[in-house]
Amino acid sequence: MVVETRPFDLDSLPHPDISVFINRQNMTAYPLITSLGCQFQCNFCVVSHVTNKQWRPRSVERIVDECATRIGLYPNVRTVVISDDNPLSDRRRFRDFLARYAALGRDQLLSVANVRADTLDTAMVARLKAANCQAICLGVESGDPFVFERVHRGADPAPFLPSIIGRVG
Ligand code: SF4
Repeated sequence: MVVETRPFDLDSLPHPDISVFINRQNMTAYPLITSLGCQFQCNFCVVSHVTNKQWRPRSVERIVDECATRIGLYPNVRTVVISDDNPLSDRRRFRDFLARYAALGRDQLLSVANVRADTLDTAMVARLKAANCQAICLGVESGDPFVFERVHRGADPAPFLPSIIGRVG
């Protein structure tokens, strides 16, 4: 059965109920979802098919509220793991989130998965570092222009990336 995805206000949903997780008090990583879906159409990826090529964000206010009120309920959490399909789709929004997350003063490390290489620049990497980000999982896909063009990735794989990360440290 195919169900068409329709946009709706993610802020109308309550925060995820982590309390139903088995063994939650021993949980060391807090799963944080700040958005759903992706507007790109890489031809090897299922996301655009299941989300109808739409990227739907939660507001920064709601995400920060979740971080402020929920993470501390689990004393063994050492890392907050953002695992959106395309977390930096709106770079201004993500910059705002990083600044407000850093201002919370949480001692947990931050980890961000599924980052498109072309959404990073020196300033963004510096902001990630300031927000106690320990790890970024990058989707570079291929360094071969022939392959890269054929997966319909939609942008260059940021060939300057090594120098950015090297500069920020
Ligand atoms: S940018 Fe990432 S999530 Fe979006 S379609 Fe491509 S591989 Fe999938």
